[in-house]
Amino acid sequence: MTASSKRFERAKKVLAGGVNSPVRAFKAVGGDPVFARSGKGAVVTDADGKAYVDYCHSWGPLILGHAHPEVVAAAVKAARTGSSFGMPTERETELAELIRSAVPSMELLRLTSSGTEAVMSALRVARAFTKRDLVVKFAGCYHGHVDSLLVAAGSGATTLGRPDSAGVPEAWARTTITIPFNDPTAVADAFSKWGDQIAAVIVEPIVGNMGVVEPETGFLADLRQIASKHGALLIFDEVITGFRVGWGGAQGLFGIQPDLTTLGKIVGGGFPIGAYGGRRDVMELVAPLGPVYQAGTLSGNPVAVAAGLAALRALKRDKPYAALAKRTKRLAEAARAAAAKAGVPAIVPHAASMFTVFFAGIPVRDYAAARTADAAAYGRFFNALLKAGVYFPPAQYEAAFLSTAHTDRQLERTAAAFGPAFEAAR
Ligand SMILES: *Cc1c(COP(=O)(O)O)cnc(C)c1O
Repeated sequence: MTASSKRFERAKKVLAGGVNSPVRAFKAVGGDPVFARSGKGAVVTDADGKAYVDYCHSWGPLILGHAHPEVVAAAVKAARTGSSFGMPTERETELAELIRSAVPSMELLRLTSSGTEAVMSALRVARAFTKRDLVVKFAGCYHGHVDSLLVAAGSGATTLGRPDSAGVPEAWARTTITIPFNDPTAVADAFSKWGDQIAAVIVEPIVGNMGVVEPETGFLADLRQIASKHGALLIFDEVITGFRVGWGGAQGLFGIQPDLTTLGKIVGGGFPIGAYGGRRDVMELVAPLGPVYQAGTLSGNPVAVAAGLAALRALKRDKPYAALAKRTKRLAEAARAAAAKAGVPAIVPHAASMFTVFFAGIPVRDYAAARTADAAAYGRFFNALLKAGVYFPPAQYEAAFLSTAHTDRQLERTAAAFGPAFEAAR
């Protein structure tokens, strides 16, 4: 029995499922989860002392790798001088200023403790501003465990949703319209049916949460146009893509200005954080300026803010995005070549420093296509990589991430491990 398995047995007695977030339990890939002992750069070491080249990177926050010296120093220094006050601190303003300088559509913003909280709050303010209740989301996009967004698509493009999690009231699910990503006709249908009741359209502008799926040309521009035409707000959920696909996020890449944006992950440098913000006239509805209540004992936490500032300052200074994209492309190409050699149908979309190995035979432009992937084959691929000392995200429908810490040698080692892993998957 591995040290991780022993720890898992113990954890299951006291933590629900042995974990604090379900995907960590390895249900999607089989076997017991690997317990982390430490991380440094692109390497995570497990409870047995085995080292892995990490492509999960805490699900996206660690674009600078584990335990980046500047981030660690900033966090330690902040903790030494008081970890929380429940009073404003100057660094919160500095972080907000830096975020706004990168993402100018966030004229006024708020820091929260998680991405889920940021999304939940953005929806609340959008509903208050428009005085409408319905929200359009896209199948396969994930926006945190917000009750009203844990919905399955209704039957047909323009029916209201039903709960996709136990414990979500039907009535709340019915405030959400779920339609296919990259389907402008479905968007138009939804607006023709519910246009005067839709408060907001929320979208991951580059999807990470059904695996990596890029928007087709014009799709986001269409969303911008139709939302404006009907008086609905456009919300870009950039919890993954913010400071990941470029300094200005996906909105900077595509030159599209949403009304509201949600951030998280990278913005906290590996500590718990979220942020939402956007148009000044919308955000002025948030208490104490306006009637939308939103608060948090640890919101804008000094340690998270210090770590986030250090991370963003390093990204601003080092401009790693072009190099990251190039390296990711190279690794994706290596995966494609290895799959072809093994005779395994796989497609490997990549965007900036995100990529996914889909065990699918068709291009993945929406969730229905993603669902054609052979998740069991992914599980075999994942476990073969794990054995070889490469840690991929433990589920098919997720993005793998490169960080600035990956070395050429580590990438080469990973590419070499792809061959046997695709053989194992076959
Ligand atoms: C991770 C994620 C969230 C939720 O953030 P948490 O910090 O896990 O609550 C929301 N939206 C997207 C796009 C995410 O990837």
